[in-house]
Amino acid sequence: MRAKLRDILRQGEIVLKERGIEDYRSDAYCILNKHFGVNRAQILLAGEEEYPDETVLAYWEDIRQRGDRKPLQHILGSWEFMGLPFIVNPDVLIPRSETEWLVEYVAEHYQDRPVKVLDLCTGSGCIGIAIKKLLPQAEVLLVDVSELALKVARKNAAELEAEVKIERWDILQGVPFFMEKMHFDVIVSNPPYIKSEDLAGLQAEVQQEPELALDGGPDGLLYYRALAGEWSKLLVPGGEMLVETGEDTGKEVQTIFAQTFPGAALHHDLSGLPRYVTAKK
Ligand code: GLN
Repeated sequence: MRAKLRDILRQGEIVLKERGIEDYRSDAYCILNKHFGVNRAQILLAGEEEYPDETVLAYWEDIRQRGDRKPLQHILGSWEFMGLPFIVNPDVLIPRSETEWLVEYVAEHYQDRPVKVLDLCTGSGCIGIAIKKLLPQAEVLLVDVSELALKVARKNAAELEAEVKIERWDILQGVPFFMEKMHFDVIVSNPPYIKSEDLAGLQAEVQQEPELALDGGPDGLLYYRALAGEWSKLLVPGGEMLVETGEDTGKEVQTIFAQTFPGAALHHDLSGLPRYVTAKK
């Protein structure tokens, strides 16, 4: 089919805008880029050219699905976290930029040390794998309950050439026998933290992410109790646990952590919300 990329892009933008997609411009651009492999400058400069029908049709199919609220990240199949491309699919939580704070904190405080790091509820593996990339001398273990999520984490570790260990376990079942003797300098987690009753009201896109990765129990705090409780025993003396919290549960999480760690501290994200708790044993 003969067409100008500019026109294909514009038409995609119009469809997404009509479907109420907030970031319709950048979403249409990302989808065009996926199929045609061109950047903004190339789109602008290209005149009318012949493009394979399959490519144009595949672009329109993705635009249609995005209009139906399929997450852009699922359409693209990968998403950037700490500047690294992570494979994502509906089996894992899509890595969020606010989660990068946890990685930055560990990288900042534990450089030049052969630290042992445990990433609980690892999902796509983004936190633990990014830490391993920034601190190559670190020993990193990723744990998640979902075998499907771990499949993604394994692929990410392989693609990004990060030598990490991976185990399957439900952290709500306590510490398994095969981990009882292990010790870590850092335990990091971005656990499921949405209150069960709030799940139904989530954005249509978020509802396509695994419920297992979102549901934090009746008060959204289920996982934090397990982390501050049994899992804190795996920290070496002076070891540190750090977690992301829900937008409105930072203070409650700090209170839970303060029962185990007297100095548990609350940190804010860039929009000023209390979002992270760090605690030293
Ligand atoms: N640790 C992963 C992330 O931060 C997955 C978190 C989860 O599934 N709740 O993206």
